[in-house]
Amino acid sequence: MTGTSAAVRLRFAPSPNGRLHLGHAYSALVNELFAARLGGDPALRIEDIDPVRSRPDLIAAIAEDLAWLGIEFGGSVRRQSEHLSTYRRAVDALSSRGLVYPCFCSRAAVIASAGPEPPRDPDGAPLYPGTCRLLSHEERASRIAAGRPHGWRLDMAQALAQAPGPHRFRCLDADGTETSRVADPARWGDALIARRDVPTSYHLSVVIDDAAQAISHVVRGADLMASTDLHVLLQALLSLEGPAYHHHALILGPDGTKLAKSRGSESLGDLRARGVTPADIRRRLGFG
Ligand code: GLU
Repeated sequence: MTGTSAAVRLRFAPSPNGRLHLGHAYSALVNELFAARLGGDPALRIEDIDPVRSRPDLIAAIAEDLAWLGIEFGGSVRRQSEHLSTYRRAVDALSSRGLVYPCFCSRAAVIASAGPEPPRDPDGAPLYPGTCRLLSHEERASRIAAGRPHGWRLDMAQALAQAPGPHRFRCLDADGTETSRVADPARWGDALIARRDVPTSYHLSVVIDDAAQAISHVVRGADLMASTDLHVLLQALLSLEGPAYHHHALILGPDGTKLAKSRGSESLGDLRARGVTPADIRRRLGFG
């Protein structure tokens, strides 16, 4: 990994669904490290598409925690909630090419209708059985006209027919060595591309934003490695140039599972309140 280039752009993209914890700090610090090696500051993106879980006080806390850690971000902060019309247009464009279809099934209904050992996507959810893919054009139109809530799913077979691949993408090792890998998007099945409550999903927004922000290197946790397979396909379908990816190791809690607010992981705010310093955090995470 050498040299500086005006084209190098990284981003750190937390979701304001809780306070940042050590796992976020690690990801931000790996971004900082790669940015220093490659040249340039990482950008900050707030992934606040969830209208219920995203809260303004948590967005303010993210900025505060990152400033406390001393990580510098370049450019303006992109907030996904300010770009919903862009995502909606992308869904419309995919729809006009027959690549997505409206899905009226709730998540609970999909889980309930799955057998005891259904095939699962890489996130562990049952693969969507394609129920709504089989609806006629008229049935779809009449349900939408009746105001039935619906999301939009990728028709994976159509997608792979229009963009057969192989879907190659660039990966960086920890030492910066670049390799080429082939994505396997089919394992996601008919993935949900736009949710019922917002005209987008994590997968769609991230792909559109990485392109809109001209991100050259995505540095994020290994838990998102499988998502990259789907992102690479969406980039091909939307004719977006793909970044290179580095998926870093995850910081695990004492029980060996990923840190999460829902599992009571200590937040950076908690650590700070009990006198832990940014230098302590950097040392503890191997950046001291
Ligand atoms: N918003 C995601 C998270 O907080 C990260 C998304 C990404 O880096 O692609 O886990």
